[in-house]
Formats: sequence, structure tokens, C-alpha cells
Amino acid sequence: MQTKYVVILGSLMSGLGKGVVTSSLLKIFDFYDYKALPIKFDGYLNFDSGTMNPFQHGEVFVLDDKSEVDMDFGIYERFLGRSLTGDLSITGGKLFGSIISKERHGSYLGETVQIIPHVTDQIIKSVEKVAAEKKPHVMVIEVGGTVGDIENSYFIEAMRQLALKHEVVFINLTYLPTLDVVGEQKTKPAQIGFRLLLQDGIRASFIICRSSSKLLDSTKEKLALFANLTKDRIIDDQDQATLYNLPLHFMDIGFDRLLLKDLGLKSDRLNLPKVSEWNSNVEKTVRPKGEVNIAIVGKYTHLKDSYASVKESVIHAALKHDVRANIDWVESSDFEKKSDFERINNADAVIVTGGFGKRGTEGMINIIEHARREKIPYLGLCLGMQLMAVEYARNVAGLKDANSAEFKPDAKNRIIVLLDSQKRITDKGGTMRLGAQECVLTDTQSIAYRSYRSKRISERHRHRYEFNNQYLELLKKNGLKITGMTPDRSLVEFIEWKDSFGIGTQSHPELKSRFENPSPLFLSLIGAAKERRKSKSN
Ligand code: GLN
Repeated sequence: MQTKYVVILGSLMSGLGKGVVTSSLLKIFDFYDYKALPIKFDGYLNFDSGTMNPFQHGEVFVLDDKSEVDMDFGIYERFLGRSLTGDLSITGGKLFGSIISKERHGSYLGETVQIIPHVTDQIIKSVEKVAAEKKPHVMVIEVGGTVGDIENSYFIEAMRQLALKHEVVFINLTYLPTLDVVGEQKTKPAQIGFRLLLQDGIRASFIICRSSSKLLDSTKEKLALFANLTKDRIIDDQDQATLYNLPLHFMDIGFDRLLLKDLGLKSDRLNLPKVSEWNSNVEKTVRPKGEVNIAIVGKYTHLKDSYASVKESVIHAALKHDVRANIDWVESSDFEKKSDFERINNADAVIVTGGFGKRGTEGMINIIEHARREKIPYLGLCLGMQLMAVEYARNVAGLKDANSAEFKPDAKNRIIVLLDSQKRITDKGGTMRLGAQECVLTDTQSIAYRSYRSKRISERHRHRYEFNNQYLELLKKNGLKITGMTPDRSLVEFIEWKDSFGIGTQSHPELKSRFENPSPLFLSLIGAAKERRKSKSN
């Protein structure tokens, strides 16, 4: 079967949840047992998202194959439950980079290299290549940015041309503001967005309306008339109790059947057990029996998207434990001076997230010390593991100036040092220790082993620094447990406290947690949080 395409274009503004809509459609195809894959276009000229500040684009997501990609890939994987690959991320940087190197090579001798046809052809070829190699039934293409941006205009033109060769359904995601004074949903901005797309030669078959309230029938009618679409093609995308409900919501209103019909795909093959499994997870997320308080400590907490995967991992694990996780976002720099630990005491578990640079690290160390002394369940992710080791060296092993070489290169006791493989690297892009890395869990009594129930595991990584093995024996002697190493025993991957639930990992397990398949470590953490809550209330 020839691969079919769905192209999602956002109008008016960013932040409408294009990633969640794309993921919901991927999931719907999956419910019908069609193989669906996403493609994401990003107009920026960075080769990938690895060199960008999380404040601007949210977290950098890492795939098994070491690709550093847009955070939307996290949403795709969490919905689809499948690991994706870097070739599905097409950025301006990758495109122009390859075109310029081809030009230098002489591939276009005698030609003037231009946006049309060279860049647009390159986009179409990249998409067709994925289709030829991976043979999905459907590819759902999310065009980053907003219609009318210079940044993504060449992607939109390429999609217009894609439709000349292949079966393509265009979807316009737009925003419907409601004016408080009159309580009326205003359609004019959506009309303008739709018209902008028409100017680009694209007629969307569906308009998905993002709004805080339910799409009114009168609004639907108005937009349908204007856009020359039937009313059932104006799709409600109101706020959901949980974002994982969106595929089910789309199915409730019949969007799935219309979309399948447009693509010439059968709608009589719905895999009901799959749908009901998803539905029961959604129910549990919305109506849990209990609750736990989880403090997530980081340095980019003003923009929650910086920790999207950590947050979702907590939600996934909480739902399996039938509890709601109330998340308290703790800005680590607020804890540089040991002061108000009430917030931390109020938590049933603490997570210290990954990060780069010195700012906020002393606050993290203070929080980790407090969690250890008060026996508050603790999970350290990458930097959170490195600082757990530093805290232990300082306060248990008595190495007062212990630090990470990243923050104090001249410290006498550098517990965390640059990886050997990093020492000669000067380029910053794509050069960290990245992607899926194997680890051997050495102690069957450990939290790590009891979480994964396997001696050999794989998690994703993104770091340059590592535990300094010169301190291994000393810290072990002082009671720190080393419970996971790389298969060649050269790198420490997991450390644990001996007297209470505390575990740090050099990896990023949050990058592999899925709605239907939570991360084992987060499951254990939420379990420990539940225990603490129970014992507090007794
Ligand atoms: N900055 C640390 C390193 O590079 C930790 C990285 C992280 O938390 N992802 O090793």
C-alpha cells in the first residue's frame, strides 16, 4: 500500500498543542491497527534542538539512536508507545546543511540553487525516503511554527507539492478566543488563518478549533459556511481533563471515521481491546483513589515544558498506583541558602532533574541533604545523581570541598569529572554521551534491580560528566551503594542510599516512560511516596 499523508498546520499562534493533536491522530491510526509515523518540520537553522536553551523550546528530547530532537517527539512516543528515530525530525539546519554541502560537492553544477525547487524537493525526498524505508500506512506530518511565518514557508510550499504526487489530507489547527464580555466564540481569527492557508494553495479538509470551552454549534456553522466545509469537519478541541483523552474525544465526535474515509482507509477494523485499555488508563488518571505530593526540583521551572518528560513520567507512574500526583515545582536557586524546607517536608518524594551549568546546584545539594536526613524518597536524574554523589561525599564522607568539575574545575575533591571520551571534544553539537546505553544492575537487593527486575537494562543518556571512579571505594566504605555499572564496568550508572529510598541514575529514564508503560524507576518512586504518606498519616 502507498503511504498516505496527513499534514497538520497551525494558524494564528504557537502553543496550541499541535504535538498533542498529532499524537492523538497517530494513536487513532494505531487503534485501527494502521502503522502510523510522525514527521516533524522545524524551521530554525540549528541542526537539531541539542544546542538550544530549554527556556525557548522546552526540553531537548533524546532518542535511542542518539538524536536530539524537539520535545514533541516525547509526546509522540508517550502516546504511540513506540521508540522513534532521528530521521523523522527535519529541521531547517539539516536541510540547508545538506544542500550547501551538495552544492560544494558539485551536485548542482551550472544551476542556481534556490528554495524552490531545491529546498522543497529535498523536503519531499526526505519524507518519501522515510516512507520507502519504514513503510507506514500513514505519516502524520507536523509543520512547526505558524502559517504566515517566513520560517516555515518553504515547508508549507513543499507540502502543497507533496499533495500533487501523493494522497494528502490537510488539517488546520487554529484558536477560537471567547470574549469574556459577550461569552461568544469569535471565529474571525480562525477565518484569517484559513484564508492565509488558501493563499498558499492549501485547502484544509478539517479545522480543529482549540478553545477553553466546547465548540458551539453556531460557531461550527459559521466557520463551516466560511470555509466551504461541512459542519462535521469543524472539530472541537476544547480543554480535556487529561491530554491522553484527546484521541478518545476525537473518536466520540466522529473525526476518526471522516479522516479515514478521506484517506481511503477502512474504518471497520477498530481494535476494541486497545481502545478500552487506553480508556481505562484515562479513567484512572482522571479519577484516582488517593494522592501524593511530588516536589520536582530544577532550574528551569518557570517554563514547565523544560521538564515535560519528568512531569509525564510522574503522571504515568501515579496512574498505575491509582493516585494523583500533586506536583510542586521547586526552583533550586531559591534553596541556595538553607532556609525554608517546609515545602520539601510536605513532599512525599523529591526528584532532582537534569541540567547544565552551576546556577542552582548548591540549592539542589541542600535539598538532597535534607531529603537524605529526613528519609524523604529521592530520585536523582543525571545531574540529580551527580549532585547526590557530591552531597554524600561532602556530608557523609567528610570531603568538605567535594564538587563536580563542571562547577568547580579546581576543587580538590572532584567527585564528578569529564568523561574520558569528552576530553578532546571541542564541538558542542551532538557530542555528548547520548542515546540508549546499556547498564548492568549488580545488586539484586537494590532499588534499581527491584524496579527493573532485570540484570541488563538500557536507558537514554545525555551528559558529558560522570562519577569519578577514584572515589568509588571511599564512598562505598561510607555506605553509598553502587548498584549499576556499564557492562564494561567503567562507568557508574546507579547509586543508592543505604538507609532509605534514595536512588540516582546517570541516565534519563523519563525519556522512556509511556502512558501505557511507565518507567520502572518512577513506579518505584511513587510506591515509596505512597508509603511515606501512609506512615505520615498513621
Ligand atoms: N551537566 C551534567 C553533565 O553534562 C548533567 C547533564 C544532565 O543532567 N543531562 O554531565
